[in-house]
Amino acid sequence: MSYILDIDNVSKTFGGLHALSEVNLKVTEGETHAIIGPNGAGKSTLLNCCIGRLEPDTGTVTFNGHNMVGQQPWDINHAGMVRVFQTPEIFPDLNLLENVLLPALAKRDGTFRFNPMRSLDRETELRDRAMKALADVSLDRFWDHHAGSISRGDKRRLELAMGLVQEPKLLLLDEPTAGMSRHDTNRTIDLLKQIKESGMTKVIIEHDMHVVFSLADRISVLAQGRIIASGTPDEIRNSPKVKEAYLGESEDD
Ligand code: ADP
Ligand code: MG
Repeated sequence: MSYILDIDNVSKTFGGLHALSEVNLKVTEGETHAIIGPNGAGKSTLLNCCIGRLEPDTGTVTFNGHNMVGQQPWDINHAGMVRVFQTPEIFPDLNLLENVLLPALAKRDGTFRFNPMRSLDRETELRDRAMKALADVSLDRFWDHHAGSISRGDKRRLELAMGLVQEPKLLLLDEPTAGMSRHDTNRTIDLLKQIKESGMTKVIIEHDMHVVFSLADRISVLAQGRIIASGTPDEIRNSPKVKEAYLGESEDD
């Protein structure tokens, strides 16, 4: 079986602290894989090891057949592993369409350097793709609004469009509903379900159990830097080990 993402024996320490210990995690093409775990479990550290913001002390992160350890974040992004919902943030002074055009342009040309001599007005193919990404997150009607002026929930959907327009092979979502109202959370779940139907592989780090159980095909549970369980939502729900480490304390959040 080949995996689109194969995290093998990854460990990371900060001083004396073992943030990750011999983590193994495999993601199959097309699946939605959730990573859950209590605060401080190592979720963000693991994600940062995947996208090149941190280098693991040991182990490999094989994406699409290539080890990404030691590669630059930009190269990893360009290879098709795209993270949304943390950095880069949106550009508040640009309109929504321009916000989505920038990553589309960077993806196509392999650079963020903008050539002012080439008018974006002539980039019809790129504009169409950017408008489609905005439509995918139901923001196309507001394409000419300043990004700084839209609601917080809409900003996060805009960030998602900025990720989608890059047509990632693997989309990494870092707590996509953190800080959202229940209404916005439900909208985001619906949106992520639609993306799921498109077959795009996703890894979601998420705290909200409602979101995790609505979306995930498989769930891996991190606790104190170790994967303590990996399985289907039902298997995870019924695992005594997981209940003890995590679910029991946060299911009523
Ligand atoms: P989670 O995302 O699951 O809440 P983190 O990956 O952020 O957990 O953190 C795991 C552990 O590593 C925590 O104890 C945290 O304090 C520590 N940690 C994370 N990043 C750093 C860092 N840059 N320097 C030192 N300690 C860190
Ligand atoms: Mg975190």
